[in-house]
Amino acid sequence: MHRATKIVATIGPASSTPEILLQMIQAGLDVVRLNFSHGTADDHRQRAEFVREAARQAGREVAIMADLQGPKIRVGKFENGRTTLVTGNPFVLDADCELGNDERVGLDYKDLPRDLKPGDVLLLNDGLIVLNVQRLIGNEIHTVVKIGGELSNNKGINRQGGGLSAPALTAKDMEDIRTAMSLGVDFVAVSFPKNATDMEMARQLANIAGAPYGIKPKMIAKIERAEAIPALQGILDASDGIMVARGDLAVEVGNAAVPALQKRMIRMARESNKFVITATQMMESMIHAPVPTRAEVSDVANAVLDGTDAVMLSAESAAGKYPVQTIETMAAICVEAEKSEQSELDKDFLDRTFTRIDQSIAMGALFTAYHLGAKAIVALTESGSTALWMSRHWTHVPIFALTPRVGSERAMALYRNVTSLHLDTNTDRDTALQQALETVVGKGYASHGDMVVLTVGEPMGQAGGTNTLKIVRVGEPY
Ligand code: PGA
Ligand code: MN
Repeated sequence: MHRATKIVATIGPASSTPEILLQMIQAGLDVVRLNFSHGTADDHRQRAEFVREAARQAGREVAIMADLQGPKIRVGKFENGRTTLVTGNPFVLDADCELGNDERVGLDYKDLPRDLKPGDVLLLNDGLIVLNVQRLIGNEIHTVVKIGGELSNNKGINRQGGGLSAPALTAKDMEDIRTAMSLGVDFVAVSFPKNATDMEMARQLANIAGAPYGIKPKMIAKIERAEAIPALQGILDASDGIMVARGDLAVEVGNAAVPALQKRMIRMARESNKFVITATQMMESMIHAPVPTRAEVSDVANAVLDGTDAVMLSAESAAGKYPVQTIETMAAICVEAEKSEQSELDKDFLDRTFTRIDQSIAMGALFTAYHLGAKAIVALTESGSTALWMSRHWTHVPIFALTPRVGSERAMALYRNVTSLHLDTNTDRDTALQQALETVVGKGYASHGDMVVLTVGEPMGQAGGTNTLKIVRVGEPY
């Protein structure tokens, strides 16, 4: 069953054996997320090796995303590992506190008291605990518990409305970027960027660290800060894609604002020729249960209908009981939602102008394939850009992107409606086109008599070189 929407799954203790990973890939996993908020460099190295091994066994490329921890502000540890905060009681966040108790706890970001003022609202543990800031005394933040509950070691802190000044990349992030590059990851997700500059800096560091390995990873901005919303266009321009990181975002802007923001982010990303991942709690109940809730089914389907490139799993696949079933279920929801979607080129498609030859060919191919009722678009691509451009519009014509570059093949694993395949192209143009067509027909994606639209660049082998559009009927003299 053809599925256009891609699946990203975080791996962790529940999914770090080659056997489970192989099953996850066979169930439809397209991109593996290594979460650098947990685990050691050795854990990630081991997991990346297992992923590559499982992908080899499955016979297809699976991309890897390194998700950096970023400046998540956290409370310190407690004497007993935890405490229970009682609504109405005072509680102190104390930058100098070593081990917490029922009255106070330490902070990993020592400057937090300087960023706050009386009246601010702090949300702990993903918003489950709410503290009202009363007074700031030196390194101490005196609060009153507005909503109590259990608070355990190292839980996150957000300020309602955002605006905390911790820099986007921590020393740990820089170290983790180096580790990630040595693992040959395809994507780097940056946590809590505030603006385009944060993304530019992260890209520069990743490119420097990736140079010895010959990799320039695609950069993903996790949109999870209130300040990132007004800066979104700049962040998009500086990134290859974004993640709608609904966990932290909901805490900063309020739960109720997130669904509309998700729709806006997905639309803006597509219009900016960037990809977008929708993340967090999509299938949350499947951490413990073999079936999702109706609301989760609707959430995944609605993200698909919003036009997301990919849907993402976090704890469901990293620490849940049913990592394989969760992917199977998610894949089935995507396929069903895609069926219900109208296939039409956006209304403003005809008004667009292009300056680039390759982009013009890509749009010409899409227009032609759509109106001709072609069975498939086959793009021979070096960088994957033609496939990305074509996949920003929803036409239901599947796009097959063939590339000799393994990095491009993996990056395209995230693009909606794009199936990336390997093809060596050290031949002449016509032989390569013939081989591309044979590959797609051989895999059963098109058959005798089908119309197929092909794009290619000549001379071959140059990124950005697409300049030719060819239409063929499968089986007729070529
Ligand atoms: P996280 O990011 O899982 O790294 O916190 C995603 C989110 O905040 O939604
Ligand atoms: Mn987050």
